[in-house]
Order: sequence, then structure tokens, then C-alpha cells
Amino acid sequence: MSQADVVANEPVDAAKVAKAEKIILGLQARLPVYTAKGAGPFVAAIYDSQGNLVVETANSVVDGQCSHNHAEMNAIRLAEEKLGTYDLGPHHLSLYVTAEPCVMCMGGIMWSGIEAVYYGVPSKRVEEITGFDEGYKPDWQEAFRERGITVYGNIAVEAGEKVLQQYMDEGRVVYKPERDK
Ligand SMILES: [Zn+2]
Repeated sequence: MSQADVVANEPVDAAKVAKAEKIILGLQARLPVYTAKGAGPFVAAIYDSQGNLVVETANSVVDGQCSHNHAEMNAIRLAEEKLGTYDLGPHHLSLYVTAEPCVMCMGGIMWSGIEAVYYGVPSKRVEEITGFDEGYKPDWQEAFRERGITVYGNIAVEAGEKVLQQYMDEGRVVYKPERDK
């Protein structure tokens, strides 16, 4: 996957893509640290505008027994606890995550004050590989642009898809609510 495949809601800044690629490849590489604890398969980190790591964490729905413990939601909660605020806006933070935010995380990011989102594997591919349901997100990148939230996606996709495929090959849990329909 090259920079040409990257999607963004602003004119593409190659330096931002290069930085995001490095960070997201690192998050993918550390997934085994989290799956060993029963977490995963998605990993997220929040960085400040100077490039300092604020928090890094993973999805912990299964090991945390909580349906909203997605990687992005966990990262936002940890950052808010660390900084002692419900509004991350004044801290000028960016969220990096190994896959496109689901419908819940899209809302969580919007409410958090995060200024920029960089994600790896797009939702369609996540659904095809894993069977997770990413939810309904009409024009979310445009809706974020209107609110001043930058979005870059499809970063390090090939490596990210391999990581998700490996998670499936290991027979790990794809957690979904059971419904009669
Ligand atoms: Zn989510």
C-alpha cells in the first residue's frame, strides 16, 4: 500500500502520512503484547503535537468484560485520566489506530476534542477479514472536516491486514452481541 492509496479530508501532507505510517506499523507490531493478555486485535495511541506519546492501549472488550472497551475509547479515557480533563481539545492531540474507527469510536472521538485521526485498515476490509460489524458511518470524514477534525486513512494497510488475518488464524474471539433476527 503506497501513499497514493491514502484517503484524507484535507490536501494530503506527505510528512503526516510518513509519521503516521511509522506509528501505525509500531502499533501493529506490538499487538502480540496485547493478545497475550487477552486483548486486541486493535491498538491505538495518542500523541501530542510535539510527537510525544501520551498513551498507548488496545481493545479490551473481552478481558475487560465491557462492550465499549474499543482501542480508541480506551485511549481517549486513559488520556483524559492522565491529563485530568474531559476535553482534550486544548492539548492538541492526534489519535493513531490500526483500523478505521467503528460507529461508536467515531462518536467517542468527536466528543473527546481529539484534533486528528490516523487509521490503518479501512472498515470494509476489517469486516471482510474478521466479521466485526463496524456500523453505519455516512460521510463521517466530511462530518469531521466540518468540525475541524483531520482524518487520514488507509495507512500501512497491507501490514494491518496481515495482523488481522493472523488474529483470525489463531482462532481468537470475534465478539459481537447475539441477536435473534
Ligand atoms: Zn470502535
